[in-house]
Amino acid sequence: MITVVLGSLLLGAVVWIVLLLTRRNFSNTASVEHLNQTNAPENLEIRSLLEATMSGMREGLLVVDKDMRVVASNSAAHKLFNPSVPALKSQRLTELTRNPAVYSVFLDGLQGIERNDVKVETHGPERQVFDLRVIPIGNANGNGAEGALGVFFDITRTERLELGRQEFLSNVSHELRTPLTSIIAFVETLETGATEDPESCQRFLSIIRKNASRMHELIDDILELTAIEGGNVQLRAAPVKLQGLVHDVCSSLAVKASAHSVTLKNDIASEVIVHADVRRLEQMLTNLIDNGIKFSHEHGTVTISYESGARDKILVHDNGEGIPAQHLERLFERFYRVDRARSRDMGGTGLGLAIVKHLALLHGGEVTVTSELGKGSTFTLHLPKP
Ligand code: ADP
Repeated sequence: MITVVLGSLLLGAVVWIVLLLTRRNFSNTASVEHLNQTNAPENLEIRSLLEATMSGMREGLLVVDKDMRVVASNSAAHKLFNPSVPALKSQRLTELTRNPAVYSVFLDGLQGIERNDVKVETHGPERQVFDLRVIPIGNANGNGAEGALGVFFDITRTERLELGRQEFLSNVSHELRTPLTSIIAFVETLETGATEDPESCQRFLSIIRKNASRMHELIDDILELTAIEGGNVQLRAAPVKLQGLVHDVCSSLAVKASAHSVTLKNDIASEVIVHADVRRLEQMLTNLIDNGIKFSHEHGTVTISYESGARDKILVHDNGEGIPAQHLERLFERFYRVDRARSRDMGGTGLGLAIVKHLALLHGGEVTVTSELGKGSTFTLHLPKP
């Protein structure tokens, strides 16, 4: 919001200065280019003010004359269109961009039409999205403008965030709808007479309970992740005795491990101390070890070990099914799962690894994964030393 307001203020200042200059010059000259050749002291003063304002802008700024040649630009526009040449001056707009949308908006500007909020995309090495605004300059006698000034507001990040938000909302709705549909279906079955059979009744009630718990877990995880991502989680990092913490996490997961016939192995030496928020470290280890159990084969082993280096490394290794290589890059994204249906069956929310990733980042560290299909996976928490 602040950026938009500042951007508009700067734009206002630039337009004012350009108009001031054009009023002095366009009345008796043919093009904006003449500005650059006029060395009257008052023009020099205004020009240096214009240059300072333009170079301070994060938005790309381009002024063209009525032949569509660039007569002024700032460094942001330079980076945007052609960083390889020393200056954009005198180039035709068509030499800078082949984007017809940009050309047509500038053309409107030269015909005296102001255009706002035109979305243009560039497809260089990285896709960038701009909100383009074009203002005619010097339209004194009504025969079209002497030039046009275009401002490119970079909205790539805002757009990406907006897309992310939409995707998140649609995922959340989808994830909540599945258990909710099941709850409604079983309640309706009970209402239409299944209550007379106590065995079915019990079975349906337990399905309803399972789905309600799923929704509960999902909402808890969503709230947790939103709080972490929103920067509303304060870390209290302190020295943590790792062996004891891993012992506690393994104890709390012991019932689940034995239900899957999986052995948990704490390989941490007693003297190892890491620097972290103990509750958050426990949460990260719980998520990783819990996954190790879920995706292990029967009689598998999940081993927790430590390696010292520039950073402390805590490794959670399982000899389970492993993860196909093409999934590894996206594994830590929210709701990303190798097998969605299976993850749900196992009571997963698809948010566990995203929570681990964000907590690790909050610690100034990261989480990485290596995996071999059919052999197992190793998730490594890298934590900075104090
Ligand atoms: P979930 O609730 O599904 O476990 P996570 O975010 O914790 O969600 O994990 C995302 C996905 O990553 C899982 O659905 C699974 O496909 C994969 N995954 C995570 N840990 C392991 C592991 N140790 N072995 C194999 N696959 C794993």
